[in-house]
Amino acid sequence: MQIQEAAKALNTGGGHQPLALPDGNPFQGGNGEGEFYLSKSRLNRYIACPRSYLLHYDLVIVPLRPDRDLLIGRSTHRLIAAHHLARKKEEFIDAQSVLDSFWSKYIQKEEPPEDRQDMEAARTESFRYAQLFIRDVPLDPLEIERDFSIPLIDLENGDTLPVPLVGVIDLVDQPNGIPRPLEIKTRARKADAWQVRVALELTCYAWWVRQRIMETGAGEPDEIPVGYVNIIKTKTPTIQWQTDCRTIVDFLALYNTARAVYENIMDRRFYLNPGTHCNWCDYPAVCGKNKDAIVRNFGDAAYLRLWEADLI
Ligand code: SF4
Repeated sequence: MQIQEAAKALNTGGGHQPLALPDGNPFQGGNGEGEFYLSKSRLNRYIACPRSYLLHYDLVIVPLRPDRDLLIGRSTHRLIAAHHLARKKEEFIDAQSVLDSFWSKYIQKEEPPEDRQDMEAARTESFRYAQLFIRDVPLDPLEIERDFSIPLIDLENGDTLPVPLVGVIDLVDQPNGIPRPLEIKTRARKADAWQVRVALELTCYAWWVRQRIMETGAGEPDEIPVGYVNIIKTKTPTIQWQTDCRTIVDFLALYNTARAVYENIMDRRFYLNPGTHCNWCDYPAVCGKNKDAIVRNFGDAAYLRLWEADLI
């Protein structure tokens, strides 16, 4: 495999077109709007609980108040990405203005003081995590927040799914000459060793690297390195690296999983799959048909949509 050619293709980003960020706009393609696509978030949500997929993507039932940990994670990502983008231009970022632009819509004067204080604390936390990352994770990434939209292909018979796989890779570096997609995670505790092995999102990113390498004519890569850089949000935050690799076996499994999810969504199979994941799901009130909690968490319009969909 001609690693240098693959790296060059990544560097030049041939054909790179900015896309709508799937995580920033997770509803594109739901409800008949825009073109339908698959993403790691859609795959993971459907696999965990098809009913949750229906509620989130199809009926667009979203909490009125965004989840604090989610905001901390996004703000931390924003700062890290801004730092690396500025560094590429040999500039420095103004961290406070990056934070201002992210948090201004969540820290409003009219909010109750305790809610404002909570969001201010979350903002400070994210700054701390980004500082830790920038200090303790020395990287010179080839790509920063790299978006992609690529076909999913069955490597056994050449079949292609009719919808693309869309995603954004936090960082791509190149240790040992091989492009390596990296996902930054903010986690409450250290991840178990197996998590990096089974992570579908890392397989999606490795698939993108594999496609780019194949475009160069360099031949099928033996394996593609992937990694998590976990920011552990303990009292004294730490960094945990987890690295692994993906091979053709993983790409065959990715295709089969994606095809099953795609076909189930097209057939509108949105069954309930209750389990431990209900603990961190937004929708126990919906599944429990708790009207007061639904209106409180999601608002009247969401309640009406659920009623019209015959779900409550
Ligand atoms: S609460 Fe449980 S069953 Fe209901 S949507 Fe969420 S994960 Fe599925």
